[in-house]
Amino acid sequence: MIRKADQISYSFNDGGNPAWSYSRWRSFRYCPVSYILKYAILQYPQNLDLGEELRRAKKLKTAGEWMEDMLGASLREASTSAGFSVQEKTELFTKILKRDLNRDCKNIEYGNKLNQLEILEIENGIEKETARFLRKCGELLKAFIETLKSSEIIQEVLCVGNLNIKRIPSPVSFFHEGFTVWCSPDIAWTQSGKHNTLIFRYVHGELPDKYESPVPSMLCGLMLHKLYKAQVERLQAHEFKFDISGDNEVLSRKADAINFSAVTMYIKECSETIRKSPLPQLSELENFHRKDSAKCRRCKFMRFCDELESPFSCV
Ligand code: SF4
Repeated sequence: MIRKADQISYSFNDGGNPAWSYSRWRSFRYCPVSYILKYAILQYPQNLDLGEELRRAKKLKTAGEWMEDMLGASLREASTSAGFSVQEKTELFTKILKRDLNRDCKNIEYGNKLNQLEILEIENGIEKETARFLRKCGELLKAFIETLKSSEIIQEVLCVGNLNIKRIPSPVSFFHEGFTVWCSPDIAWTQSGKHNTLIFRYVHGELPDKYESPVPSMLCGLMLHKLYKAQVERLQAHEFKFDISGDNEVLSRKADAINFSAVTMYIKECSETIRKSPLPQLSELENFHRKDSAKCRRCKFMRFCDELESPFSCV
């Protein structure tokens, strides 16, 4: 339990530079309190329950994030498996995904504490029937992968060969214009002199217009330029969006005219908005009351907020 007297310090810097990522910006827009909890609290009394509960909340994944992770991991494993033809790798992609899906579903359903995979929709009570919900996620995922398999990009990744796949950690950070920028490519590869990255992104509800902000994929392109000296005209950043609300539609987009000045401007403007925002201080929180809003119900910190002596508000 956190007390009003406890000292909490905020820091948004990484190695002395302001840190920036698209998910930080998204988290801030969702709720500044969730942004502070997820990214900024550096020191808190270790002997209080707060630490464990906060760590647990940070690790919660939405079903969409869980699916994104599985798609990325399956594609990486299939594309780097040696001794298979492209056709066999395509089948392998599906097999790996099904294997991981079964493993995760069992762990989630039977609450395997060692695995530590907890799904927000289940933990926050949005989905009451765990088995049914997991079955629905699995069906969606299998349908996505069937659509993905016929994509030229996926076929290219599966046939480029081990040596052309770049081993890039995800997330990865790089320095850009005074910022430490983080991005999370699912896979990166080189083919015919082009340097490619690919990310999977989920949406909930209608798939957005294809011109909706391509910032996450452009950041991956910028990362290849900064860390791997890839020439701008040789960059291609791909993304696959899938709708987890049930429509089996996959939207792919290629950002090969990566506009660095537009991305830089975006980073600066978002950072400035956060910097100027009066983020709530702990001492002020007693005046707030967390609403049982739809936003809070879909928030990773709902249980954590419930634990607080002075509840946060949804701002
Ligand atoms: S539960 Fe609500 S108030 Fe608390 S961090 Fe989440 S969105 Fe914000």
